[in-house]
Amino acid sequence: MSMSQGRALVTGGAGFIGSHLCDRLLGDGYDVLCVDNYYSSTKDNITHLLDHPRFELLRHDVTFPLYVEVDEIYHLACPASPIHYQRDPVQTTKTAVHGSINMLGLAKRTGAKILLTSTSEVYGDPLVHPQTEDYWGNVNPIGPRACYDEGKRAAETLFFDYRRQHNLPIKVVRLFNTYGPRMHPHDGRVVSNFIVSALTEQPLTIYGDGSQTRSFCYVDDLVNGLIAMMNAPEDVIGPINLGNPGEFTIAELAEQVLQQIPSAAGIEHLPLPVDDPVRRQPDITRAKETLDWQPTIALADGLTRTIEYFRSVVI
Ligand code: UDP
Repeated sequence: MSMSQGRALVTGGAGFIGSHLCDRLLGDGYDVLCVDNYYSSTKDNITHLLDHPRFELLRHDVTFPLYVEVDEIYHLACPASPIHYQRDPVQTTKTAVHGSINMLGLAKRTGAKILLTSTSEVYGDPLVHPQTEDYWGNVNPIGPRACYDEGKRAAETLFFDYRRQHNLPIKVVRLFNTYGPRMHPHDGRVVSNFIVSALTEQPLTIYGDGSQTRSFCYVDDLVNGLIAMMNAPEDVIGPINLGNPGEFTIAELAEQVLQQIPSAAGIEHLPLPVDDPVRRQPDITRAKETLDWQPTIALADGLTRTIEYFRSVVI
C-alpha cells in the first residue's frame, strides 16, 4: 500500500463539483471523507467511489457541528443554483454561515488548512467589468438572490476573521459559472437546461433577450484550480477568482448547443428573473500569477463532453 497523501474532507462532496474533486483527490493519493446531506446533490455522483479503499461517505448537514480528524478541508457545501438556493432561502443562509462557522471550528481544533468555495455572486450585478478580486460588488441585500450572495459574503468575512483572530490557514476562491458532467439535469442552470431541452426536443428557454453574458468554466479546469489553491504557500489566502474568462451571451451559448444537437424545437424567450446579473466575466490575472493556473478547455469541447454525459443518463 502506498502512503496516503493526507486526509481531505470535502463538504458537498456528492455535488457536481464536489464529486469531481473527490475523484481527483483519490487519484492523487488522499484519504477522502465526503460529507453531504443530499439537499441538491445525489449519491449517483459518488456511487462509483463507494468501494474505493480510501473513500468514506458521511451523510451530514454542515449546519450541525462535525467532529472528525482531517488535514485539509474543502468547504463546498451549499446549494448553488438559483432554483435550489431559493427554495428554502433561510436554510441557504444558515448553510453558508453556520456551515462555515462549524467547518472553521473544525479547522481550528484540528489545525487543518481550510478552503472556501465562494462565488462570483459576491460581485452581484457588477458595475466593474471584468470582475477583479478587489471589486466590492453590487449586491441587493434584500432580493431573492441575497440568501446566497450575502450568505457567501458573510462566509468570506468569517474566513478572514478566523484568520485575523486565530491565525487559521485559510484559502478563499470565488467560482464563476462551471459546467460539465454530473450537473443536476433539473437545477435550472443554463448549460444543463439547454442541453436537456435540446436532447428532448424541447425549445431552448432563453430568459430575456439573451444578451446577458456569462463565462463558463469546464469542471476539470476548475478542480485543477481548487487543488492549486490548496497547495499554494500559506500566505496565499485569496480571494482568488477561478473561472474561464471566455465571455458569451446566453444567445451565443444557445447557438453553440444547437450546433452540436440540432433540435427542431428552436428557441423560446421567457422573462428575465429578478436581479439576474447583466454581465459576468472573471479577471483571472491573480490566479495566473499566484497559482500558475488558467483554464485549458474551450467551451465547444467542454460542451461536447457534457452532452455526451447527458446522453448517457436517463433524463
Ligand atoms: N438562463 C436562460 N435560460 C435558462 C436558464 C438560465 O436564459 O433556461 C439565463 C439566466 O437568466 C442567466 C444565465 O442564463 O442570465 C445563467 O443562469 P444560471 O442559472 O445558469 O446561473 P447564474 O449565473 O444566473 O447563477
